Amino acid sequence: MTAEKHNISDQANQFLNRTHKLFIGGQWVEAQSGQTFDVVNPATGQVISKVARGGSGDVDLAVKAARKAFEGPWSKMTSSERGKLIWKLGDLLEQHLTEFAELETMDNGKPLAVAKFADVPLAVDMFRYMAGWTTKIEGSTIPVSVPTAPGGEFLSYTHREPVGVVGQIIPWNFPLLMAAWKLAPALAAGCTVILKPAEETPVTALRLAELVQEAGFPEGVVNIITGFGEETGAPLAAHMDVDKIAFTGSTEVGRLIVQAAGTSNLKKLTLELGGKSPNIIFPDANLKAAIAGAASGIFFNQGQCCCAGSRLYVHQDIFDEVIEGVSARAKKIRVGHGLDPQAQMGPLVSHDQLARVCNFLEEGAKEGAVAKAGGKRIGDSGYFVEPTVLVDTKANMKVVQEEIFGPVVVAMPFTDVDEIAATANDSIYGLAAGIWTQNISMAHKLARRIRAGSVWVNCYNVFDASLPFGGYKQSGWGREMGKEVLNNYLEVKAVTTQL
Ligand code: ADP
Repeated sequence: MTAEKHNISDQANQFLNRTHKLFIGGQWVEAQSGQTFDVVNPATGQVISKVARGGSGDVDLAVKAARKAFEGPWSKMTSSERGKLIWKLGDLLEQHLTEFAELETMDNGKPLAVAKFADVPLAVDMFRYMAGWTTKIEGSTIPVSVPTAPGGEFLSYTHREPVGVVGQIIPWNFPLLMAAWKLAPALAAGCTVILKPAEETPVTALRLAELVQEAGFPEGVVNIITGFGEETGAPLAAHMDVDKIAFTGSTEVGRLIVQAAGTSNLKKLTLELGGKSPNIIFPDANLKAAIAGAASGIFFNQGQCCCAGSRLYVHQDIFDEVIEGVSARAKKIRVGHGLDPQAQMGPLVSHDQLARVCNFLEEGAKEGAVAKAGGKRIGDSGYFVEPTVLVDTKANMKVVQEEIFGPVVVAMPFTDVDEIAATANDSIYGLAAGIWTQNISMAHKLARRIRAGSVWVNCYNVFDASLPFGGYKQSGWGREMGKEVLNNYLEVKAVTTQL
């Protein structure tokens, strides 16, 4: 562990010191219950802020505000005006980059350098990328034959319209970035939004709401409701006047959202769920790069990435060498308070996550897994876990099958490409995969066989606003980012006129 330092800017400090309200219809309002809940710094376990504890009545008000904005000023704006507002939000965010990074570190625990280098700039980029799309959402003119109307002349075209009022429920691993991934395309498509941040990490979404106000979005276009999953997320998912839910989180809660949609108004859904992604290293790979990529593929963000390369498959000829390399890297990672400039890895987000990850480590050990690096909690204050490399793991073990969502990789040898193609797909998930080899033809052939939404060759965790991201199988429905995501926020209308 590195030493702790806790200096953040006055702006960030002042923001944390406030008790935050809900952002509904352009106003800051208390929860109807009058209740708040504590936000905790996972590096210390200390309370850093207080936020409103939303409930179903608040959700209802937010949906009404979003509906009013959708039917009012927002739909009357030109796409160019909409694009300008989204671009401005990106600009404002960039102007406050350090403050947002500090808030994210205090709330989520991640190292400040990571928040500054990845989370905030990627969020800015997402708003800018999507701002450009507002003016490029087009339908098409379709030549129709209409066999039932011989001799008839028709003009048919499609028109793409926003889905409407969208509930967005996001997780705690990249709080600001997930808000940007969700808000930017919804706004670009012309939807209005009720965003529910995770209860563990509500801070940056609330600060972003202030920038939404400053940018000049009409009231009710973006509403932010803080609260617990069952108390705010569930009523949002079950609401009869919400047209769509976009959810990122656990597969378990994803199922609840499907049920809520099914028993309410059959609202549209997109789901970005869990993963247990294979990272595959062939003997001809550039081993230095592959070892570094295997380590960062799992340890980035404390392993709290749905696409983490959590199943490491190494060809048997190089298995020992690679495991030694990845373990050496794991042992060198400096774990500490995210504000400590020396820290390369922060704490897990919460006590619950700490308990969950430690439980996996214990179960793994019981089933015979051996830790080549790490394997346990660090200290007894804050939620820190050692970067861990497990070997002697078997396909049927819990640590191999289930998503741990912590800095724990399971490593196993393989012998040939057919075997590894089958093993890579031996999962209920299909979010991402990594392939390390110099044989590019083989890599592309293998990429085709792997049932996952993202495949990285000789790299890992490469994201871009223009690249679609999402899951096969139980990793989810639909895609985020790129032009693909816009389809999830648009309805297509076919208009036909007899001439
Ligand atoms: P994790 O298990 O990693 O904390 P969750 O899937 O529980 O992830 O949480 C992701 C988001 O889903 C959070 O914003 C959380 O509040 C929300 N959530 C949790 N339970 C429900 C639910 N029953 N209905 C809707 N949203 C929920």
